[in-house]
Amino acid sequence: MKYYVGIDLGGTNIKGMIMNETLQPVISKSAPTPQNKNPESVFSEIINLIESMAAESKTNMGDVLGIGLGVPGLIDSRMNLVLNAANLFWTDVDAGKWLEEYFNIPVYTENDGNINALGEMHFGAGRGCGNILLLTLGTGLGSGIIIDGNILHGASHVAAEAGHMIIETNGEKCSCGKRGCFESCCSAAALIRYARERIKDHPDSLLLAYASGNQDAITGEMISKAWDEEDAAAKQAVEIFAKKLSIGMVNLINLFNPEIIIISGGVSQLGERILGRAREQVENTLMHPIQHCRIVTGELGIDAGVMGACYLARSNT
Ligand SMILES: [Zn+2]
Repeated sequence: MKYYVGIDLGGTNIKGMIMNETLQPVISKSAPTPQNKNPESVFSEIINLIESMAAESKTNMGDVLGIGLGVPGLIDSRMNLVLNAANLFWTDVDAGKWLEEYFNIPVYTENDGNINALGEMHFGAGRGCGNILLLTLGTGLGSGIIIDGNILHGASHVAAEAGHMIIETNGEKCSCGKRGCFESCCSAAALIRYARERIKDHPDSLLLAYASGNQDAITGEMISKAWDEEDAAAKQAVEIFAKKLSIGMVNLINLFNPEIIIISGGVSQLGERILGRAREQVENTLMHPIQHCRIVTGELGIDAGVMGACYLARSNT
């Protein structure tokens, strides 16, 4: 039996999985990302994680054909080069070198949005689809675009930065330094910002009660709960979020004509509260019914990345 290793590197956690040659998961584990985040510590943690998964599952590393690695940031996958990963404070890190030299196994590095999209395409909500957009609404807004079954890479392999499309002039400042990016309008922090703004008109909001009067303590989960209780501030915050999400999605639909948009990340836990409204607004804004595309939440949750990374290794070997 041959095997594939998938690693999904995040700013907080590193997730790992081993799949066998029929793409059945053998084992999965995770470890915290070292706090100093320097490449040497991070790759030594990844090596530990892979070795401990192999030992526990009695997988011989000699039978592993490839390692797929997802990293949040701008990645030149042709050279396994992490050009920029803001969460990790990395620039120009040769991700392949560390693992390939240690294990002597080929490594394939991709942006984390792309491996999430591959995961959902092969194992989750996008099964059977060849044209997929994945949007991860969390701390930031990650994206992966699959066209005709292949990851859209672009001329210099840094395509699919949907989070930095500008959808609002003079909008909120984004982590990239610009204003009004899709990310600054539709991240978890943005949803909470809208709720805080709406509380000004609704000082009796349940959100304040849930957060013990501290606006800074409001979470997405509280907004979800207050929405279910018909709380006006929560309802309006979700409405604002859904409207902006629909603007970004319509732009992407007009460009890429996907058959499905998969929403993942922390904000996706609000599910139909957001998607119901966003879907309605998208349908009302499309140019022609032929552009119809399903908008759903991901099925794999936090496993989409590692599963996609295993698939990435298999598709390259
Ligand atoms: Zn931006």
